[in-house]
Amino acid sequence: MVIQMSMETENVVARLKSSGLFQTKGLIGGKWIDAYDGKTVEVYNPANGEVIASVACMGERETKDAISSAYDAFSHWSKLTAADRSSRLYKWYNLLIEQKEVLGQLITLEQGKPLKEAIGEVVYGASYIEYFAEEAKRVYGDILPSPMPDRRLFVLKQPVGVVGAITPWNFPLAMITRKAGPALACGCTLVIKPSELTPLTALAAAELALQAGIPPGVLNVVMGDAPKIGKALLESPQVRKLTFTGSTAVGKKLMAGAAETVKKVSLELGGNAPCIVFDDADLEVALEGSLATKLRNSGQTCICTNRLLVQEGIYDKFINAYSNAVQSLKVGNGFSEGVDQGPLINEAAVQKVDSLVQDAISQGAKVVVGGKRHNLGLTFYEPTIISDVKNEMLIARREIFGPVTPVIRFKTEEEAIQIANDTDSDQVHLYGKHGLIQITGAKVVVGGKRHSLGLTFYEPTIISDVKNEMLIARQEIFGPVAPVIRFKTEEEAIQIANDTDAGLAAYLFTNNIQRSWRVSEALEYGIVGVNEGLHAYEVAPFGGFKQSGLGREGSKYGLDDFLEIKCICMGNMG
Ligand code: NAD
Repeated sequence: MVIQMSMETENVVARLKSSGLFQTKGLIGGKWIDAYDGKTVEVYNPANGEVIASVACMGERETKDAISSAYDAFSHWSKLTAADRSSRLYKWYNLLIEQKEVLGQLITLEQGKPLKEAIGEVVYGASYIEYFAEEAKRVYGDILPSPMPDRRLFVLKQPVGVVGAITPWNFPLAMITRKAGPALACGCTLVIKPSELTPLTALAAAELALQAGIPPGVLNVVMGDAPKIGKALLESPQVRKLTFTGSTAVGKKLMAGAAETVKKVSLELGGNAPCIVFDDADLEVALEGSLATKLRNSGQTCICTNRLLVQEGIYDKFINAYSNAVQSLKVGNGFSEGVDQGPLINEAAVQKVDSLVQDAISQGAKVVVGGKRHNLGLTFYEPTIISDVKNEMLIARREIFGPVTPVIRFKTEEEAIQIANDTDSDQVHLYGKHGLIQITGAKVVVGGKRHSLGLTFYEPTIISDVKNEMLIARQEIFGPVAPVIRFKTEEEAIQIANDTDAGLAAYLFTNNIQRSWRVSEALEYGIVGVNEGLHAYEVAPFGGFKQSGLGREGSKYGLDDFLEIKCICMGNMG
């Protein structure tokens, strides 16, 4: 069922359109382009299922053209001075910051996070453009001590060329700027494929890049049919590097596909972050940090706590305080004042989170808080038709008082009159009690359940008595659910924390300095927060061990993946 835009959403969209940043076409060679076959794909507001835009649904042909544009633009862009590229990136940064309210609204509209958090993402995302505008001025090589008196050895660092960048929906802006900042600063050109769920922010950012003087063809955006776009990027020998942020499953496929043309690949994949609270932690610090790392973006971040490990001495006190804090959170539309937690991205995400919760419960875990879909107190019922109804069924005997039509089949006029008169008009209200329909055994033709209005909210949830073997501790939850595992010793905590294929982020809370160092070293993770719940800065390397990825984003280390190293040996110099 298509849910049309409400007046409220129409007003937001109208404001965004008037900003000139509400783009729905792809960007190829500096021109806004429809899909060649005219196909479009709808973008939804996850808070209520409304269709907010139809954007170009592109595929292989458009991607090939975008690659050609990027390839042609490379010869010019890579030859500009680092200072020239830097000044254009500064302009882009300034425009992103100037438009942070508009971009924030776009993020909330298509991704759902609370507006304040969305604006925070814009500032965070823009910081990568500013940082790399500066850092890329310091990309230079070396002169090596020569083994021969008449030879000189030089090391040059050069941009790799055309970069394919594939990004997810959870940070529609920041995942793009984290790649575009270093790539452009080094002199590479880009074909960006944002998530089909959140293309609007990417297109707005691309429009600002054009306004900042990033030349046509240097930054291209195609979106739509992900496998076809991915195939074109992988197969093209002109694409010299693929940088991907997304799920581990898709990352593995792309890595295998890149083998054919031996592209450089960097991958930022899924996590399974442990957050370890030791007995000697400061309760307030541990509470604040662990809540932040769990609940930001409704739990939909790759560095989110996926397992909360709590030592037995502080267990009761900590869980009590954590529960109180979680219960006071306000869940709702990201545009509403004071909302702490928005929706999940879509129905499939809610179902995945709920199935992990139900599986844990079936294995013996206990719900402390939450544990189910949040309906925001709404009481809507789907318009419903039920066939095969018999007049003896409860639904035919009682007054339904809801949008439900039970259908009884009859043969003759006499039978119809008999059925019609066979009632005592019992005045019982059954509004919303859909269990009745199931009990009767009649068949649902349309509807038959509470209407969620496309709502995809999940209650902030804590589950105790979790074991590390349960699915909920092994898979990335990507929702506002904190499974709690109790532990006794430091060794046990480290063993549980490392017992996973992922290795992106980990957190620990302790006031013992030796322990903080010892545990940080022992954790097999690329990012470790000590008494700190948020850990992603443009100046710091971001990336994972094991199956959480390859390479690093941010910081000086984030440049390496976009550079080739060339050794030049000059003879006859004596
Ligand atoms: P996803 O893997 O489903 O999609 C990511 C991107 O890949 C999207 O643009 C999608 O359209 C595209 N894609 C999907 N199939 C493709 C194919 N066959 N060929 C080419 N492209 C394809 O992930 P998602 O659901 O968008 O994002 C959530 C995941 O991203 C989580 O696992 C999360 O942990 C991860 N993530 C990781 C980081 C990090 O830095 N490590 C950051 C954010 C998100």
